[in-house]
Amino acid sequence: MTKKTVTLEFTNVKRLKCTAKVDMPAYGIIAGQRFHLVHLHGNEYAVKAITVTNRNNYKNGDVRFEIVNNDGTPYVTTLRRNAPHSCSCPSSKKCYHILILADTENARLARIRAEKMARQAIVVAPIIDNPSMSANTSTLTGSNEFHLLKPTLPQRPTVHA
Ligand SMILES: [Zn+2]
Repeated sequence: MTKKTVTLEFTNVKRLKCTAKVDMPAYGIIAGQRFHLVHLHGNEYAVKAITVTNRNNYKNGDVRFEIVNNDGTPYVTTLRRNAPHSCSCPSSKKCYHILILADTENARLARIRAEKMARQAIVVAPIIDNPSMSANTSTLTGSNEFHLLKPTLPQRPTVHA
């Protein structure tokens, strides 16, 4: 039987967004999975976790998820690039399915971007094989310098109150 509530002390927030650092088998949650804790009453919080059973990526960037709640109810949630997200659950507001999936998806995209940048950094690492080129780094400080870790931010004009 999967546990669906947790007792939290020293907080009275309505909702806590969480990421599991380790597997939480009692709750059916695995390491890295996102879930929400939603206040019920007193110190009781409901654990809102979902499992993605199927996903479809569309050419326009939309992603359709078939999901199952941790109470076993299946829903279909669609994240859209250029339109409001949608979900088949009864909630009329932006439901936690959308919140959790958008969080998970953004984290996934950020990880892919970081991995891509790391690969590019390896590819562009200079190989000094020209004997006329001195071993010092002066050739790397010109306009071909790569700003992989420190992007140049546009200067903002000083604003006086
Ligand atoms: Zn929903």
